[in-house]
Amino acid sequence: MSRRHWASAAAVVLTSALIAPAQAAAAPTPQPADLGMAQLTDLYVATTTDGRELLRFSAMIVNVGSGPFELFASRADTSSSFEVAQRTHHSDGSTTDSPTTAEMVYGGDGHDHWHVRDLEGYELLRLDNGVKVGTGSKSGFCFFDTDPYALDLPGAPGGPRYSYTTCGKQDSLDVSMGLSVGWGDEYPWNLPDQYIDITSVDNGKYRLRATADQGGLFTEASESNNVTWVDIRLSRRGGKTSVKIISYGPDALSSGGDGGGGGGGNGVGNGGTPPGHR
Ligand SMILES: [Zn+2]
Repeated sequence: MSRRHWASAAAVVLTSALIAPAQAAAAPTPQPADLGMAQLTDLYVATTTDGRELLRFSAMIVNVGSGPFELFASRADTSSSFEVAQRTHHSDGSTTDSPTTAEMVYGGDGHDHWHVRDLEGYELLRLDNGVKVGTGSKSGFCFFDTDPYALDLPGAPGGPRYSYTTCGKQDSLDVSMGLSVGWGDEYPWNLPDQYIDITSVDNGKYRLRATADQGGLFTEASESNNVTWVDIRLSRRGGKTSVKIISYGPDALSSGGDGGGGGGGNGVGNGGTPPGHR
């Protein structure tokens, strides 16, 4: 090789060294999930046979991030408790798993699969002073793609990618759950625990608030868009309790995040349970 070629080769090496930082910047970037809540729907008051009043509603947790929300839980044997890891996808297709403090609980009683605790929290607050007067009954969740929410988001699959089947059985040692970009996991009003007991709540104005990842157990792109709410008026007249909607708060796409707007449909009177749900 002539001296000139050596020089040329050296120049190439030097050039590579110079552009290396740019290549590093273009290296795999994390594509974090971003949890939020769609607008609450289907509010009504049910009276049980033993005289309790339940404020029922449909809620949907959604992923408006740039990658899927995935949890992988495993345990050594059936007498051990699960360790729960959150899996983050990267732009080159690689993934990394991070430990979480999330807990798993077995949902017997018709569910017959594993739930992750406290994925969502529901609270009823007095509108005048913020005092909490009720808490949602449901605390465990097997989440997956049940409803499209914002399929125009980059990376949103056109069809569901996750199902309840990976929530396992009682003796499972490995369980997983996922929620795709642009998809929601709806908990319809008629599910057994999908309510707040308002038997001892006075007439008046309240805020029904739903929070995704209320305990801050999971990593996501933004914590500022996890909450939605609806302000309501409870009234009892002639032995009948009714709920009237005053106004809606933001949802996952209209709060905090990058604008967007739009989002989930606000279905009314939808009584259906998605096939195989929970
Ligand atoms: Zn379940």
